[in-house]
Amino acid sequence: MSLATATPPVDEPAQHAPYLLTPGPLTTSDTIKAAMLHDWGSWDDDFNRLTAEVRAQLLEMAGASGDAYACVPLQGSGTFAVEAALATAIDRHGKALVLANGAYGQRAAKILGYLGREHLVLDKGDYLPPRGEEVAALLDADPEITDVFLVHCETSSGILNPLAEIAEVVKARGKGLIVDAMSSFGAVPLSVEAVPFDVLVSSANKCLEGVPGFGFVILRRDLLEASAGRAHSLSLDLLEQWRYMERTGQWRFTPPTHVVAAFHTALAEHRAEGGVAGRLARYTRSRERLVAGMRELGFATLLEDRWLSPIITTFFCPGHPAFDFGRFYAELKARGFVIYPGKLTEAESFRIGCIGRLDVAVVERLLVAVGEALDALGVDDGRPAA
Ligand SMILES: *Cc1c(COP(=O)(O)O)cnc(C)c1O
Repeated sequence: MSLATATPPVDEPAQHAPYLLTPGPLTTSDTIKAAMLHDWGSWDDDFNRLTAEVRAQLLEMAGASGDAYACVPLQGSGTFAVEAALATAIDRHGKALVLANGAYGQRAAKILGYLGREHLVLDKGDYLPPRGEEVAALLDADPEITDVFLVHCETSSGILNPLAEIAEVVKARGKGLIVDAMSSFGAVPLSVEAVPFDVLVSSANKCLEGVPGFGFVILRRDLLEASAGRAHSLSLDLLEQWRYMERTGQWRFTPPTHVVAAFHTALAEHRAEGGVAGRLARYTRSRERLVAGMRELGFATLLEDRWLSPIITTFFCPGHPAFDFGRFYAELKARGFVIYPGKLTEAESFRIGCIGRLDVAVVERLLVAVGEALDALGVDDGRPAA
């Protein structure tokens, strides 16, 4: 397969730098790290060119080149961009329907509380996806709802929510659609032609494999232009950030220059890998090997196969009495792998991510390390408690 030849080399991290099998920040390539060994003037044309190219390339990735959509980068972690997007997209007299099945949906509802925006939450718990039919029923029952917020890949469980199905019912009713594509954009196909979203939010340090420091919002330009006066915060005012960038080519306040330079390199590596399709293929190969190998050791996934994302997978902790997550984590870290605790409210669990600069060969070594870690704990079976 031609995509396989495009797969970039995986760098061997130094002893002190384990592979991060986490939801971000992630393992980055040596070339991306090296791109930060230069100081940029925030005023300088060379840096402004990086910013302009990054914005144009992100729009292109979303199938949103042309004048209908704008890309607004914003300093801070992904949540800063989510907060700015919600404040911009939802009118002060609007009402949002938040589709929640994990921490990031809950966080969006909490932000709306801070913003004083009326909202209701469809809470599906830890692992069930919101479905088109129930969203349709809620919208039909409450015509005051103006906007729907959905997390594409809910990173707290790893579920890939049915975006297309939900977009269809939201758009059929003429409502706004705000998508938190933080942990999917760049690795799961998502374009305006296929899914007519109004607002998409993502960040530098997830599937695009940059380092942390900024997020970005891709949104309908008419919606952005109509948002004057909505922002609750000077620094999170997306319309002002966009106007300033359009006028001067610069970020409104100090930009994370090194992060932007690294991200520019990360986008070039994304294209060299075959874009979204190439990245999806690599992550999917890693995920398939991970899940198969963990199941051979007795582990069970939280989700049914059809809801598994190629981003991150939740496994139940073994029911064996000798299992202890803290010790398991330390044994894996000593072998060069950092995993992530679970975020479920009911069952003990942990997560292993496949995003970042790693491939199926790294997963093979991880599986050996997991086997050794279980031996060290005296756990002979990874099966969860009944
Ligand atoms: C990572 C992530 C965010 C943003 O989290 P930060 O810690 O602020 O970067 C938001 N939504 C989802 C689904 C995420 O995975």
